[in-house]
Amino acid sequence: MTSVNDIREGYLSFFEKKGHARQPSAPLIPQNDPTLLFVNAGMVPFKNIFTGAETPPAPRATTSQKCVRAGGKHNDLDNVGYTARHHTFFEMLGNFSFGDYFKDEAIAFAWELCTKEFGLDPARLLVTVYAEDDEAADIWKKVAGFNDSRIIRIGTSDNFWSMGDTGPCGPCSEIFFDHGEDVAGGPPGSPDEDGDRFIEIWNLVFMQFNQLAGGARENLPKPSIDTGMGLERIAAVLQGVHNNYDIDLFRSLIAAEEDLYGSKAEGDKLASFRVIADHLRTAAFLISDGVLPSNEGRGYVLRRIMRRAMRHGHLLGAREPLMYKLTPALIGEMGKAYPELGRAKAAIESALEQEEARFQRTLGNGLSLLDKETENMSAGDSLPGQVAFKLSDTYGFPLDLTQDILRSRDMTVDVEGFEAALEEQRAGSRVGGFSSGDQATEEIWFRVRDEAGRTNFGGYSGTEGKGKL
Ligand code: ATP
Ligand code: MG
Ligand code: MG
Ligand code: MG
Repeated sequence: MTSVNDIREGYLSFFEKKGHARQPSAPLIPQNDPTLLFVNAGMVPFKNIFTGAETPPAPRATTSQKCVRAGGKHNDLDNVGYTARHHTFFEMLGNFSFGDYFKDEAIAFAWELCTKEFGLDPARLLVTVYAEDDEAADIWKKVAGFNDSRIIRIGTSDNFWSMGDTGPCGPCSEIFFDHGEDVAGGPPGSPDEDGDRFIEIWNLVFMQFNQLAGGARENLPKPSIDTGMGLERIAAVLQGVHNNYDIDLFRSLIAAEEDLYGSKAEGDKLASFRVIADHLRTAAFLISDGVLPSNEGRGYVLRRIMRRAMRHGHLLGAREPLMYKLTPALIGEMGKAYPELGRAKAAIESALEQEEARFQRTLGNGLSLLDKETENMSAGDSLPGQVAFKLSDTYGFPLDLTQDILRSRDMTVDVEGFEAALEEQRAGSRVGGFSSGDQATEEIWFRVRDEAGRTNFGGYSGTEGKGKL
């Protein structure tokens, strides 16, 4: 079996052989974009090169970029543990042309990597192109021998990528793998495209235009290429499994959890094991890049992720800090590719241990309150905002943690009521009312969410249906 580590290496060395300079992953904290919470795509560190503000290190580059999608426009947090293909932290493999090659080579490279280097069965692949992009459709016909039924045209905003209101933009072409009839879900563009049968493995972006203020678009003098392939998704395909959480890396993390929590990853416990494995990676990588749990900004996003994982740990029976003990297993899997993990081992362990100790002081009581409050509720009901607010204010349950707990009971939170309670408390505290501190946290989170949500950049597609924050 080809391991995740071998697949990463296979991709990078394939593109090295095609004249690309291998570059290390940039840190998760964007170095060039204060509007973005976390790096969420391979092209982010190269933004200034694509706009022409910086000169490229080489005409072609290839990377495996650490990405986090747990806040802002690209928020996959709510999908984790529930779809086969979403993580909050993942690695995006990419090849980039900075005004060098364009569509022809980008598609030819992609096809060669998929079918020759990785040996995928061409019959299981299909692609989307932007509806008006006849050029890309023709290249796919020529390179892959696809007929029209395997080249799905997707209209306007969906397969068209832009960096912002102005600047470089252009059509995309996404490559999908068909995991087979046993899996529910329809092809891209169909009503049930959100299922997990046809999984998007790679996105090719053809940066071809410059969007001017006022609506006009001009051709870029030197069109560029940006691609992103999800390492965990291609690993699932190459290892013959359907779910990303069944790849070697996650199986080994989950095995470490089974030892630690003393139970098996099966039945209704499975989602908890997966969430913990996912959130462990996100937390550890964020900490190793200098983020610590706190009540504001990035630190608060980290705290929310940690507490979510720790609530799942509690479901698995943890009554003392345990999650930090998974750090060595993670370093064992990923420390070679990302040496910063090993260097930050002590920091990761102590941040996880302290956060879990702190949260465990209120977690049990908060859960009892929630059980009591939902006792007479039924599926489809929503929890009063006041209660969600109390859980946040008194017990340190971020709103999305409460929502995550209620999800398994088919219940939601009255978010408007929650915000109103927050507002009331804030007004009260202005006239001298008592404030325990955690409500300020939610307030900051909502501000961060709104600000991040307003930025225009957000990975590749405009088709985000699920991350609702
Ligand atoms: P999806 O439609 O499945 O949510 P996407 O269109 O949002 O994916 P892109 O922004 O195009 O994803 O990112 C490029 C590639 O990164 C995708 O083709 C996919 O392989 C991978 N990817 C995106 N989001 C995630 C995630 N949350 N977890 C794991 N891999 C991801
Ligand atoms: Mg995409
Ligand atoms: Mg997509
Ligand atoms: Mg997405």
